[in-house]
Amino acid sequence: MSDKVYVGVDLGGTNIKIGICDKQGNLLHTYEGPTGVEQGPEAVLNRIAEYVKQIVSDSPFEWEQVAGVGAGVAGFIDIQNGTVLFAPNLKWKDVAVKRELEQRLGLPVALDNDANVAALGEAWSGAGAGLKNIVVYTLGTGVGGGIIIDGKIYQGFRGMAGELGHIKVVPDLEAIQCGCGQLGCVESVSSATGIVRMAKDAVERGETTTLSLNENITAKDVFNAAKDGDEVAMRIVKRAAYYLGKSMAAVAVVLNPQRFVIGGGVSRAGDILFEEIRKVYAQNVPEAFTQGVDIVPAKLGNDAGVVGAAGLNLR
Ligand SMILES: [Zn+2]
Repeated sequence: MSDKVYVGVDLGGTNIKIGICDKQGNLLHTYEGPTGVEQGPEAVLNRIAEYVKQIVSDSPFEWEQVAGVGAGVAGFIDIQNGTVLFAPNLKWKDVAVKRELEQRLGLPVALDNDANVAALGEAWSGAGAGLKNIVVYTLGTGVGGGIIIDGKIYQGFRGMAGELGHIKVVPDLEAIQCGCGQLGCVESVSSATGIVRMAKDAVERGETTTLSLNENITAKDVFNAAKDGDEVAMRIVKRAAYYLGKSMAAVAVVLNPQRFVIGGGVSRAGDILFEEIRKVYAQNVPEAFTQGVDIVPAKLGNDAGVVGAAGLNLR
C-alpha cells in the first residue's frame, strides 16, 4: 500500500491554489486557476472539485491515496460544520463547503480560516517543523495569527482564537481606531496599513524624511528608507516592532510557545524588524520566557496556506 497524500486548497478571491503534500508536509504538486467569484458559490465549488481531480490525475498518485482535502478561506468559518459563514472577498454567506465538496469528491473535507491554516503549514513543514507549540503572526494588510498547541490549531470557543492583530497594546492616548472597532490594536500600527499611515502622518507633519519625495508610500519603501539610514523611517519601523514585541510578550505568558513565527509581506523586512522585535520581547517577559524561545521568519511564504490546508486532514 502506497503512502497517503494530502490535498490542500487555498481559496482566494482571485485564484484557487491547490497542492498535494506527502505526510511530511512537502509540497509535491501545485496547480493554480481562476476562482471566478462572479459566477457564484456553486460554480466555484464545481471548479475546486474539477481542479482537485485534475491535479491528482496529473500526479503520480492514485485517487485512493488521497487521505482528504482541506481548504483555507479568508473569513468567518463554522469549523465544525465546515461552513463559510461570511467571506467578504468571495462574497459568500452560509456556504456549506465541506458538505458540497464531500459530495463532489467522495473524500473527507475540512475547512478553516486562512490565518489558521497558514500557521498549521508553518508548524508542519515550515519554520516550526518538529515543534509542538508555536504561534504564527502574518503581517500583511492586517495582522493575522494562528496558534498551534500540541501540533493542532487551537480554535477557542467559536473558532476565533488567534486573532493576534487585535491584542491591544498601544496606550489610549496614542491609539487610533482599528478596523475591529477597538482602540490601540497591534494591527493598527504593525500591519502594512499601519506602517504606511505612520509614514504619511510624518510626511504631513513636515518631518525631514526621504519618504516625503514619494507620492505613493508602501511599507516596503519605509523599510528601505530605514535601511538607508532615514531616521524617521527607522523610528516607524521601531514603533511597529515595539508593539509586535509587546503583543508577543502578552501571548508568551499565556501560552508559552516555543517559537514565534512571523510571515506575510511585512516580515520580508528582515533583520531590521526582527532584531527590534526580539529585543522588545525580551524586555517585556519574565526571563524564563526567553530561554529556549525564539522569534523567526516564516519559511513557506505563499505556500503556507495550501500546505496548512492539506494538513487539516492529518490525524
Ligand atoms: Zn482590532
